[in-house]
Amino acid sequence: MRTSWIDNLTSRLGSDIGIDLGTATSHVYMRGRGIVLSEPSVVAINAHTRAVYAVGNEAAAMVGRTPAHIIAIRPLVDGVISDFEITEAMLRSFLENTRDNRLPYQIRPRLVIGVPYGVTEVERRAVEEAAISAGARQVFLIEEPMAAAIGANLPIQDAGGVMVVDIGGGTTEVAVISLGGIITSRSLRIAGDELTNDIITFAREQHNLVLGERTAEKIKMTIGSASPLAQPLQTAMRGRDLVSGLPKEVLVGDEAIRTAMKKSIAAILEAIRLTLEETPPELLADLMDRGITLCGGGALLRGLDHLIQTSSRVPVHIAHDPLTCVARGTGAVLEHLDELKGVLLPARGN
Ligand code: ADP
Ligand code: MG
Repeated sequence: MRTSWIDNLTSRLGSDIGIDLGTATSHVYMRGRGIVLSEPSVVAINAHTRAVYAVGNEAAAMVGRTPAHIIAIRPLVDGVISDFEITEAMLRSFLENTRDNRLPYQIRPRLVIGVPYGVTEVERRAVEEAAISAGARQVFLIEEPMAAAIGANLPIQDAGGVMVVDIGGGTTEVAVISLGGIITSRSLRIAGDELTNDIITFAREQHNLVLGERTAEKIKMTIGSASPLAQPLQTAMRGRDLVSGLPKEVLVGDEAIRTAMKKSIAAILEAIRLTLEETPPELLADLMDRGITLCGGGALLRGLDHLIQTSSRVPVHIAHDPLTCVARGTGAVLEHLDELKGVLLPARGN
């Protein structure tokens, strides 16, 4: 790769940073270092003054353990900014955490940030402005499915098609990419968090048991599955009895949890099917060879790869480290800006 003296100098004094602002978790990639930070996209603020108390892990740990006036905010909803100032505070904190305090002077970093496919002009501007006021020198935006595909090492520049399915917290994004562009894409507001909600509903309706969100998510991760398992799994669901108000524990097996999540999983399968239906036949032929690549936290649900493969009749692979695909994709763009410039969204000249 070509590097000029100015690049060398700026990469020593400042930094190039790639960010995946996830609804659930944000990841930060630093050029030359890789992923340096993965923290919940949560900010704890004073509800009266809106002063920021903590960001990320620290903020998440405060939830439910602090006086009532300290509240936790997730500033991103469905991948777009729902609270501008809080997003800016979160970005600022991430940038501060990546700064090398040994250096006497630093140039403000350049940022590559992933945004959902199809965000509006206003939403794009909000991300750019939040990043600039949080201390970035320049901001580039990339569509998340593209970043995910790059992070998963898929040959996006080829004429052959690749398909990525990113199952995050709030949304599932399905995209077919060819020649460095997104050919078809579909976004669905059913993803990992909906599966967690399904478990909460199941526990309440079938067992009169009120589960906390984190408990339900843990049940999903420990025994959740999308297709029948060779070895049955079970776990204890602990919560509050809806009737007595007292603590209660109920044993649950993988099949009951699978049934609870069935409808949401069917919606994800349907989104994949509809995207395949819209894919030109030449690209479909390539997809049969290359398969579908899963990323995002939802890709880790047991047996989901298998289920998608049987229902779509296309081979399915889970990306290496699916949770950081988008961030590693933004990082790859930073490392190879010259070759990959074309995949960025057109700059608005910041
Ligand atoms: P986002 O990009 O929206 O921040 P992520 O890609 O980080 O989302 O994925 C978060 C979702 O993945 C959550 O709903 C979480 O419960 C789910 N998830 C994470 N790990 C697992 C796992 N091992 N099994 C099932 N779901 C998981
Ligand atoms: Mg994501």
